[in-house]
Order: sequence, then structure tokens, then C-alpha cells
Amino acid sequence: MDFRFSEAEEAFRQEVRQWLKETVPPRWHEIDVGLWEETEESWTLLREFQRKLGQKGWLAPAYPKEYGGSDMSHVKRLILAEELYYHKAPVGVEMEISVNWVGGAISLFGTEQQKKKYLTEVAKGESCFCLGYSEPNSGSDLASIQTRAVEDGDSWVINGQKIWCSYAHYANYCWLGARTDPNVPKHKGISMFVIDMKTPGITVRPLINILNRHSFNEVFLDDVRVPKDALIGEKNKGWYQLAMALDFERSLIGTAAANQCLIEELIQYVKEAKRSGNSLGDDTLIKDELAELAVEDEVLRMMCYRIAWMYSKGLHPSYESSMSLLFSSELLRRIANVGMRVLGHYGELGQDSKCAVFNGRAMRTYLSCISIGVGGGTNEIQRNIVAMRGLGLPRQQ
Ligand SMILES: Cc1cc2nc3c(=O)[nH]c(=O)nc-3n(C[C@H](O)[C@H](O)[C@H](O)COP(=O)(O)OP(=O)(O)OC[C@H]3O[C@@H](n4cnc5c(N)ncnc54)[C@H](O)[C@@H]3O)c2cc1C
Repeated sequence: MDFRFSEAEEAFRQEVRQWLKETVPPRWHEIDVGLWEETEESWTLLREFQRKLGQKGWLAPAYPKEYGGSDMSHVKRLILAEELYYHKAPVGVEMEISVNWVGGAISLFGTEQQKKKYLTEVAKGESCFCLGYSEPNSGSDLASIQTRAVEDGDSWVINGQKIWCSYAHYANYCWLGARTDPNVPKHKGISMFVIDMKTPGITVRPLINILNRHSFNEVFLDDVRVPKDALIGEKNKGWYQLAMALDFERSLIGTAAANQCLIEELIQYVKEAKRSGNSLGDDTLIKDELAELAVEDEVLRMMCYRIAWMYSKGLHPSYESSMSLLFSSELLRRIANVGMRVLGHYGELGQDSKCAVFNGRAMRTYLSCISIGVGGGTNEIQRNIVAMRGLGLPRQQ
């Protein structure tokens, strides 16, 4: 593995930086919304910016050109992701869902017609997806989903309930898992569908998150009739597609760069702030903690690079993705904890307070980071995967 970027790759990094300077709307930085904090205004800005990325072929850079991508190498895709996340550009989970998680699965399992339609729409920023996986009684044990899809003439009729569906209130399509054969072992009777969110029979109800924001939803499906070609891949082979999509979900490659930005902000604050007349930078404990975070973020960066490198070699990261998601979610929690300790009571102030530091983001990160180790499978599930697929330990009974 070669850790150095080529001259052309370094030049590409500069090109992205310059483009971001010119293209990210200043209003985006003023409103300063983070993960799971979308508002109507921030959503509009996000989508506008993503359409601009799409016009450049950078929204889905690794997609082939015929589907709106740039055929970009995975190393350049990594550089692009690092710059987008480090500079807090208007991209986030909703882009990852559509482009990398669902788009990645459709690229592997969709028909030519399905790829042409969905990948192109996603790559241009015209459409976005939500994920219809979890149900009230199926989370970690996802193979136990009960939502039913039954063939009826030239349609599928779907009934059931999904929960925690992020951005379902904005999404054009849902990438949905449903049971198509209830009489076989649970993993063998699931199929994957793409359903248009405007189909009659779909009801989306908001769930308000820990930040008091509407980011996820319950989705009810009552006799939702979709065409036969809503099925992606083979009937009853959906578990395999779902597992692949989850591996893509766990393969975030921009997280170390996002963390780096947070750590650098904390370091800057510590250099400037005084407490009881003394510089915070003189505090040995704080220095130790910040150094520890910087080291851990470098470790995470290597994990991200390994994933990008595996993709570049045509390999499919599996336990490697779980390892990186597990490490990054726990690291973000440590960053948030150190942040709150460094800022003291200032860290508890929200955006509306004139004494707030970092626009109140420390407190919001502290709250939102709890969810990072849950969405995409909890940290316990990631540990199980690393143990089984990575270490070859026996499957849990
Ligand atoms: C911010 C956020 C966004 C989300 N977005 C979506 C979305 O868009 N679409 C979607 O479908 N879902 C989404 N989810 C749901 C998420 O995938 C589930 O919450 C997650 O898989 C856990 O399922 P659960 O909540 O049912 O918890 P449970 O599965 O009931 O788990 C409860 C506890 O038991 C532990 N546990 C369960 N089984 C095991 C085991 N075998 N070994 C060890 N420990 C175990 C878990 O780790 C957890 O601590 C989102 C969740 C969050 C927090």
C-alpha cells in the first residue's frame, strides 16, 4: 500500500478546495447545521449544492460517465470526500444514502434500465433515497423483517411498517426490504425493492430526534401497489443485497477528515482561551487528551485509506468497514466528551446564546454522536461482525 498521493492527485485536491471556496454558499456556514439537524432551509441549500456537484460529475464521482459520474478513481474519490467533509460542505448522510449505499447496491444488482434511471437521477442530484430496513420489532436482527410483498398480476402489493427512516419525508424513493417468502428460513425469503414515495398507500410520520429536529420517520405501507420492475435483483435473494448495501453504509471514507476539523477547532480554542487567568493550553490533562484524539484520528484515517484502497483494487470491504465505523463512532464520542470538558459550561450553551462557543455545536455534537453508533447497525453488531468475519470466531448462537 502506497500512502503517498501522486502529483495529479495533489493537484486535484487543490482544484476541489478552490471549487469549494467559490461554490459553498456563505449562508451555509452561517446557519451551521450538523448531522441530523436539517431544516427546510438547510435541506434546500444541501440539494442545490449537490446539484452543482452533480453538474461537475462529483456527486457520484466513481459512477461510470454514462450514469452521470466521472469514472473517478477511488483514491480521487477519497480526496474529494476528505475535502468535502473537512470544509463542512453541504453534503451529509442523505448524499451517502443515495449515492454510495443504495446506488452501490443498484450498480451491482440492478438491470441496465434500473441503473440508467436511478443512478443517473442520483448522480445529477435530481432524486434521493431513504432506507426502509428497520421495523418496530426488527433492528439488529434485520432478517426478521415482517413487511410483506406479494405478487399480484403484473404488480407487487406491499404491506407493513418501517421505522427510523431518515429523510423519508424528503426522499423520492425508498430502498425497501420486504418478505417475499414467509415459509423459508428468514434470511432466504427477503427481496429488495425501489418504491416511489408518491405511491398511494404510503404514509410518512415524523419522529423527532434527540436534537429536537425532524430527521427520521415512521413509514406505513398499506396495500402499496408497485410495478414488477420495482424488484431489484433476484426474488428472495435480497438478504445478500441488503448485506452488501450495509457494507457500503459502513464504508465512510471521509470521517477522519471531518474529525480532523473538529479536533483542530478545539486545539485553536485551547490555544486562545484562558481559565482563572491561565491559558488552557498549559493544562497538561487537556494537552494529553487532544494529543490522544489526534493520534486516534490518524488511526481512523488509515482505516479510511484502506477501504478506499480496497475499492480501488476491486475488493469489497466487509469487516474492514465495520471496524472503521465502530472506531469512528467511538472516536467521535470521545471528541465530543473532550470538547465538553474543555469548554466547561460554555459547551452546554445553544446557538441562541450570545456566550455560545462554536455556535453551540459542541453540545449538538455531544447529543448527535450517540446515534452514530446505532444507525447502520449498533456498535455491538459491528463488534460481532469483526469477531466473526474478521477474526473467524464462531457465529453467535
Ligand atoms: C440516527 C439514526 C438513523 C437511522 N436511520 C435509519 C434509516 O434510515 N432506515 C432504517 O431502516 N433504520 C434506520 N435507523 C435504525 C437503526 O438501523 C437501528 O436503530 C439499529 O439497527 C438498531 O436496531 P434497534 O433500534 O431495533 O435496536 P435493537 O436491535 O433492539 O438493539 C437494542 C440493543 O441490543 C443490542 N443487541 C441486539 N442484538 C445484539 C446482538 N446480537 N449482539 C449484541 N448486542 C445486541 C444492540 O446493540 C442494542 O444496544 C437509524 C437509527 C439512527 C439512530
